[in-house]
Amino acid sequence: MADIAIDHRDAEDIRRRQLIQATIESIADVGFAACTLSDIAKRAGVSPGLFAHYFGDKDGLLEATLRSMAARLGRAAAARLRAARLPRERIQAIIDVNLASEEFDRRTSSVWLAFWGQVIHSARFKRVQNIYQRRMLSNLRHALKQIAPRSEAEPIAIGISAMIDGLWLRATLSGDFELDSARARALATAYVDMQLQYADRTDPMAESPAGLPRIRNHIGGRFRDGHNPKTFLSTNPATGEPLAEVEIAGEAEVEQAVAAARAGQEVWGRMTGAERGRIMKRVADLLRERNDELARLETLDTGKPIQETLVVDVISGADCIEYFAGLAATIAGEHVDLGPTAFGYTRREPLGVAAGIGAWNYPLQIACWKAAPALACGNAMIFKPAELTPLTAVKLAEIMTEAGVPDGVFNVVQGFAETGRMLTRHPGIAKISLTGEVGTGKKVMADAAETLKHVTLELGGKSPLIVFDDASLDDAVSGALLANFYSAGEVCSNGTRVYVQRGVYDAFMEKLVARVRRMRIGDPLDPETHVGALVSEAHMNKVLGYIEQGKAEGAEIAVGGSRVTDGALAKGFFVAPTVFAACSEEMRVVREEIFGPVMAVLAFDDEDEVLRRANDTPYGLAAGVFTRDLARGHRVIARLEAGTCWINHYNVTPIELPFGGAKLSGLGRENGKAAIEHYTQLKSVYVNLGPVDAPY
Ligand code: NDP
Repeated sequence: MADIAIDHRDAEDIRRRQLIQATIESIADVGFAACTLSDIAKRAGVSPGLFAHYFGDKDGLLEATLRSMAARLGRAAAARLRAARLPRERIQAIIDVNLASEEFDRRTSSVWLAFWGQVIHSARFKRVQNIYQRRMLSNLRHALKQIAPRSEAEPIAIGISAMIDGLWLRATLSGDFELDSARARALATAYVDMQLQYADRTDPMAESPAGLPRIRNHIGGRFRDGHNPKTFLSTNPATGEPLAEVEIAGEAEVEQAVAAARAGQEVWGRMTGAERGRIMKRVADLLRERNDELARLETLDTGKPIQETLVVDVISGADCIEYFAGLAATIAGEHVDLGPTAFGYTRREPLGVAAGIGAWNYPLQIACWKAAPALACGNAMIFKPAELTPLTAVKLAEIMTEAGVPDGVFNVVQGFAETGRMLTRHPGIAKISLTGEVGTGKKVMADAAETLKHVTLELGGKSPLIVFDDASLDDAVSGALLANFYSAGEVCSNGTRVYVQRGVYDAFMEKLVARVRRMRIGDPLDPETHVGALVSEAHMNKVLGYIEQGKAEGAEIAVGGSRVTDGALAKGFFVAPTVFAACSEEMRVVREEIFGPVMAVLAFDDEDEVLRRANDTPYGLAAGVFTRDLARGHRVIARLEAGTCWINHYNVTPIELPFGGAKLSGLGRENGKAAIEHYTQLKSVYVNLGPVDAPY
């Protein structure tokens, strides 16, 4: 079935591209006004009815054609920018790609010209053109800021863009006799050189003192200069070196974000679910296209191994956005039969503006997991990443804009708890979704109560993983490793209390310790590395403190148990994967969330006993069971007090399944259809069909 579905999708994609190509041919031959659906259909050899299936109507087809041409240019630009190392080379790459000889080809340029001529009459074309213009400007500005004063980067970028557009237009209208591609590129290059020569390089505002990139808040579809902003440094936990200087959002920026989100939500909420879904699908595609670049940035910011971020963090975010893009068109109320003279129906409506507040362990994935259901339901979102990991959320914001998400629908404000509180207390915000510690969850809920906001809380855990004596021991050991050492143990759902039935305890420990010893700790950017750095020095010290506490309480270190400082690792915050044996429930390492690579193994004798011990915790995020007896597997899972459970596996989180906690681990659910409940409100409508009887 799956193969057929994939073949079908491929075939659809090929047909869609054929139709777009036929449209380009038709516009090139007969011009915009004379190009008709029946002409295009004849060229493509299909029935005109097929357009409705693929594009809705002629406008939809033309928009898709323009997008496809802009995407081709975008891909060419991205490839050249990747190859360019220095800022001046990046500026040249933008000139070369936009004034490349293919863009001067008579047919291609006549189609571009036809579209640009229509931009002022069509909001849909305007959106695409805006994205194209903004992308060019932002690439230029970014490069210019590194070689020209900050205050001059913007005007010079606008000048270069205008030069590129003007040269192209002049060449297109005058034919080959005045300008060709090579001459146009030479003129643009000379213009840039002249501008840079006269730019004053001593501007005190240029960049941060260390020459670091400066990350601003992304509000209303673009980066905003702050009002006298305070800043903080984001550092690479594997080296201790700063990565970027980040502007903190204060009251003014939060107000600006709320206003932008309200305006964006008006537009977004009025679109049909199918329209929203189509745009969100483009966001997912762009995330996948940029997987490697984003994974690398996530690794630099978090210290997680690249072998994880390349296959999990970005992909899981894209999967989530794609899943909710698909659901967007299905969000609906219900019809209620109230007899022959009345009926009722419900409308499932967006809440308005939602705020997402993220933890630092899966920064991009958390931003996607919160934005996807919020946006699918027609809400706007203001997202605040954790201050330790501020870099990838703004990339998501840029991608949203590029994909066509209207301005203001997804905003990123940066900062500490203080900025978070401005969101949780703001009366213009209808919903808060937090991922963080239990203590933060309580404070957020209390603040949100003032304005009775909807709240979703994804909080901490100390989850049990139970291994019965009939389990496949190799699989159970794999499960325990996945449950503890992914992302250096910084995973909320980790099964850090591993209960092993006494008869297999020794064999389990032997296999476990042998495999932990083989794990490679090292540079997170090395694809061979299994365990990277912890997110910060303070967090590493907290984890090391717990390890000392465990030893003092009588737990035995079976493997690991210390900081790793070999060679270059001494500059970063690395802790060896650690397994404690001979543990008991009184120990703090068994009761409290450590959020590092520390596993506690405990022996048990029978099912009732282990259930009692496993449930003896205020947390209830996750739980797992390994057994070959499936009846027992289901029976035990039914009695475990946890929101997210696995039988014979651990920590796999497909987007289709709701994710969230019981007890102190949280409220509400992310992912799955269940998340729709948490981002919509019901309106009930009674419709009378008969006369109205009143007793007065
Ligand atoms: P924190 O609770 O410290 O912070 C979470 C976010 O909340 C951060 O952005 C933080 O800002 C912000 N914040 C802190 N105080 C307030 C406040 N009073 N009002 C509003 N916002 C506030 O969590 P961590 O970032 O340390 O993340 C680790 C925790 O997250 C662990 O307990 C882990 O179990 C949990 N977690 C839960 C998951 C789940 O799905 N259940 C998934 C991942 C992690 P700042 O950056 O300035 O601190």
